[in-house]
Amino acid sequence: MDKQQEYVLRAIEERDIRFVRLWFTDVSGQLKSVAIAPAEVEGAFEEGIGFDGSAIEGLTRVFESDMLLAPDPSTFQMLPWREGANGVARMFCDVRTPDGEPARTDPRAVLERQIARVAEAGFTCYIHPEIEFYLVKRDEQGRIRPTDYAGYFDHVPGGTAHDFRRRAILMLEQMGISVEFSHHEGGPGQNEIDLRFADALSMADNIMTFRAVVEEVALQEGSMATFMPKPFADQFGSGMHTHFSLFEGDRNAFFDPSGQYQLSATGRAFIAGLLHHASEITAVTNQHVNSYKRLWGGGRGDEAPSYVCWGHNNRSALVRVPMHKPGKAQSVRVEYRGIDSSANPYLAYAVILAAGLKGIEEGYELPPEAEDDVWALSPLERKALGIHALPTSLKSAVAAMQGSDLVADTFGEDTFEYFLRNKRREYQAYDAQVTAFELDQFFPRS
Ligand code: GLN
Ligand code: MG
Ligand code: MG
Ligand code: MG
Repeated sequence: MDKQQEYVLRAIEERDIRFVRLWFTDVSGQLKSVAIAPAEVEGAFEEGIGFDGSAIEGLTRVFESDMLLAPDPSTFQMLPWREGANGVARMFCDVRTPDGEPARTDPRAVLERQIARVAEAGFTCYIHPEIEFYLVKRDEQGRIRPTDYAGYFDHVPGGTAHDFRRRAILMLEQMGISVEFSHHEGGPGQNEIDLRFADALSMADNIMTFRAVVEEVALQEGSMATFMPKPFADQFGSGMHTHFSLFEGDRNAFFDPSGQYQLSATGRAFIAGLLHHASEITAVTNQHVNSYKRLWGGGRGDEAPSYVCWGHNNRSALVRVPMHKPGKAQSVRVEYRGIDSSANPYLAYAVILAAGLKGIEEGYELPPEAEDDVWALSPLERKALGIHALPTSLKSAVAAMQGSDLVADTFGEDTFEYFLRNKRREYQAYDAQVTAFELDQFFPRS
């Protein structure tokens, strides 16, 4: 038993914890939870907790369905919405096979493997996301409606949004997740909460916790939170722009005072990798049929990127080098703006890191930045600048991913095959619909 494990056992006793939830995430990004009694925790640390993996989407093939959950003691936290007597705590788990190997379709294992590759190259990665989501309610007809009609940065007098964000942020902080920034976003009922940077694995765990907390607080307030990328056709989508930096020890490898925007050659090559592989990884960063309505639905002015390019203060760019105070070496970073709020954070951060690292290892050349609003350019102008489009549908994103050595190598064969199969099923089911739009075309309402 190591120190962290001992700490967990002591905390369980001292804080009167009666249930310990073991959390893990399936390939589609769904949080899974199984509660164990405190008396089982010591055994869970030593041998893992057995469960039937075949019940979980994408986890196993039927003939190897016995799986083990190995709790990570560093993730032990009380659930603040279950405080008081008979407390509840949680730990994130790695999924293992009965002989202790990482399960081949555990998204957390995919990210851990990628982090190890980044470490072999000499880097530690730090991440912070800007998480956008909508607060909605059902009206009398059962239709989904936003909870308010405020806009970007609006102060809502007596409004629910402030209370909501305050409660959610306090709960996150109680769980050890620091928040940097929060505000009302552009759409009615749309909010954004930005988490303080952390290492990549902690951040993926934090995002899963964030979603659970935000959904919980919304339910307590009689509304629902949704991370759906584009809930309303005529309103902004919900992105999860994420900022990345690579450190060598405590030196920011993206910082060079003499570089353009103080970006180092390593930072430039990282961006070049993101651009080069953007289309292949889009099925992962934007994993639903609905994701493409955010990327393409509103187009210009919607501020979700549709074209593969980078820029500085250019909000039409897929990758941005955000402004930072001159000389602030630690804050030089790269923002990937394609990813949306419904992504599986373990898989999405694994492929983004793989793309960036490939750029560094292969020394990819960074094309010139896009200075214009790329939505406003004509197709010919974009072609002349070498700016191509992101996939326009889940189907075309899957087509780009299935030929990708980069994603296959990052995921491993089982996760790769399962992911593709699952996504093909999704767009085929969607394509088989006859929609209200089509009926309206042929049966105009008088
Ligand atoms: N909602 C936009 C998106 O989907 C982002 C808006 C913003 O924060 N600039 O990416
Ligand atoms: Mg923001
Ligand atoms: Mg935003
Ligand atoms: Mg942003």
